[in-house]
Amino acid sequence: MSDESRLETAEEFHARVAAATDAEGRLPVAFEEMPGWDIFPFELDGLRIKPLQPLADAEPARRGEDPADCWCHQEEVPARIADNVLWSNERWLVTLDHQMRLPMSCNLMPREHCDLGAVPSHLSGEMGALIVALSAAIESLPSVGRSQLAKYGDGGAHLHLFFFGRPDRMLQLRGSTMLDWEENLPAVPLEVLRANAAYVAEQLVDAVGGDGPVWA
Ligand SMILES: [Zn+2]
Ligand SMILES: [Zn+2]
Repeated sequence: MSDESRLETAEEFHARVAAATDAEGRLPVAFEEMPGWDIFPFELDGLRIKPLQPLADAEPARRGEDPADCWCHQEEVPARIADNVLWSNERWLVTLDHQMRLPMSCNLMPREHCDLGAVPSHLSGEMGALIVALSAAIESLPSVGRSQLAKYGDGGAHLHLFFFGRPDRMLQLRGSTMLDWEENLPAVPLEVLRANAAYVAEQLVDAVGGDGPVWA
């Protein structure tokens, strides 16, 4: 094992942040950074940062932290996943998120339980190929300018990569603040999302095989 004893601790990192806060525990807003760009969705007037919270004792357990409790070990894939599969093969699923207000929002996840830091070697190469093919498919949608890719994993322990289609030529939605815009946009009709998803699935089947939408 490598030696961690000389590396900064979580307490030390948090203490430096806390030392930069004001009497109310608030950090100053970095107005010259993202808030100063046209991609920042909010006006700066009155903008302030919430008081810094104390360091948590531990990272909270996530859904499916114990694989035995995870959806992947239920007898059947639960409906919230199974009903939204836009593409699949024996090892992977891509699910449409129809709550999100973008031309395309979907998750790529393995059927087998793992998180990103522990993807087994029999899946990691295929994951790379799927990221490439899915990104290309999303960017081929006429209403999408760019496909964004994210991994958070703070809610569920079972690996799920997020793909977000950024609306074409809506330049204010570029970059990492797109999701701050997204929930303020009007809902996209389900038939529009499903048509986009079916088109993405066609490109995926052409590129890597597998099956298209469960609802088709
Ligand atoms: Zn799982
Ligand atoms: Zn398993």
